Amino acid sequence: MKHIYFDNNSTTRLHPDVLEEMLPYLRDTYGNASSIHWFGQEARRGMDRAREQVANLIGASSDEIVFTSGGTEADNQALIGIADAVGKPGSRIITTAVEHQAVMNSCRFLEKKGLSVTYLSVDSQGRIDLGTLADSIGDDVILISIMLANNEVGTVQPVREAAELAKSKGILFHTDAVQAVGRIPVDVRELGVDLLSLSGHKFHGPKGCGALFVRSGIPGPVLIHGGHHERRRRAGTENVAAIAGLGRACSIAAARLEDSSFFVGSLRDRLEKGITERVSGIKVNTCREHRLPNTLNVSFEGVDGQLLAMNLDLVGIAVSTGSACQSDTREPSYVLLAMGCSVGQATGCLRFSLSADNTGEEIDRVIDVLPDLVEGLRR
Ligand code: PLP
Repeated sequence: MKHIYFDNNSTTRLHPDVLEEMLPYLRDTYGNASSIHWFGQEARRGMDRAREQVANLIGASSDEIVFTSGGTEADNQALIGIADAVGKPGSRIITTAVEHQAVMNSCRFLEKKGLSVTYLSVDSQGRIDLGTLADSIGDDVILISIMLANNEVGTVQPVREAAELAKSKGILFHTDAVQAVGRIPVDVRELGVDLLSLSGHKFHGPKGCGALFVRSGIPGPVLIHGGHHERRRRAGTENVAAIAGLGRACSIAAARLEDSSFFVGSLRDRLEKGITERVSGIKVNTCREHRLPNTLNVSFEGVDGQLLAMNLDLVGIAVSTGSACQSDTREPSYVLLAMGCSVGQATGCLRFSLSADNTGEEIDRVIDVLPDLVEGLRR
């Protein structure tokens, strides 16, 4: 059976060139990047190059990039690190009700430490309201954290406008851009953000490796304490092979961003059209105007999304019902509930997340098999 992969918001296939980039650091130049001998300096050179490649993709300068173990750590470092650097009891953070758990649970952690958090609601398209954000800002706010693109529905938030608002009030601004980087153009200067999280495995880089952009002049933020690595901003011997792979994934993404996002967007549109035409009782959950090109989230009336995903898996099609981090719970998606979906719609959804590896034939195969599977489950 041919297996088809439509779960790229969970993770992506490692690009073969990324693997080639990583192998020498695992095999030959395995030095510790802090060592002064040849082995160490070769590793250091690989990291320096990767730092530039990451910076180039997001319009940063290389000394503003801190390598982390992925998006989760970058989010934790941004929120907990900034709270540690500039917060005091009673300080407040503003975020949204639809953030990834990496941000959500960092906020819950800080609430236990005495900070308060405002969770902005979203409209039926998953977007925050800038007026509500403006109204919720007060003197106690130390950080605003709003994701660039949502992992479940693909809605893109008005981050540039929100960051401008934060700047006008002298408040630091973080964006979780884990699902956006490598899929749509992301430029830290254009967005006007102070901190930005990204993760390699969402755009054909290695798992367990990401970065936090920290605008120069920002205090802290430190999460992991120890040696003097990453200019004292993230301790621990660096995973040079993964970092080199992340850099290569960034340069590949930069070179093909426009073409791949156009291609992936056309596949997504073909899928959406096919499902809309052939399956009744559905609801497409996203923002039409501001969304990622690769994500399609659909609720199927009267159907359990998990069962439908399992049935698709049996015919070789891999999709998910939402965030991979929540796949062990049968809870309805809090993102869809926040968007005003009913419990039935929030449990009866599928997320198709595509990449440039997908083909038109794969889309047609889903459109062929889906109507009967949905009808079978409804019966
Ligand atoms: N933020 C968002 C929006 C995500 O989608 C994810 C992963 O799904 C993360 C953060 C966590 O990234 P990582 O898997 O690299 O820890």
